[in-house]
Amino acid sequence: MAKKASNLVSEGFNVLKIKLGENVDLDLERLEEINGAFGDRIKLRIDANQGWSRTEALLFMSQLDRENVQFVEQPIAADDLEGMRYLRDNAGVPILADESVHGPESALGLIRRGAADFLNIKLSKCGGF
Ligand SMILES: [Mg+2]
Repeated sequence: MAKKASNLVSEGFNVLKIKLGENVDLDLERLEEINGAFGDRIKLRIDANQGWSRTEALLFMSQLDRENVQFVEQPIAADDLEGMRYLRDNAGVPILADESVHGPESALGLIRRGAADFLNIKLSKCGGF
């Protein structure tokens, strides 16, 4: 992952989205390698694809450099809005809801419960324009 990131940075990219969420220990190693290679030269967007438990997400997110990470996308299960609210309140890193958003009702539910800082609206999943 760090090698792939290095190739992208040498092509001129300065914001990378990294896909994690398989295993929190491995994810922390990957993050450390990428941070070690680039420091604050790039910004990161992290997508866990619902892969972590609340505890794992809090552990991971508490290790992040808040200056370099723009957000963590869908850290935990899509339907765990209470958990997402908990992470927003305790992890100190903005959260992007992705799989939690299916349309207007779920978007409003996320907003009302304070469960996300940003919503990822995929037009193809929402029926297009
Ligand atoms: Mg995603």
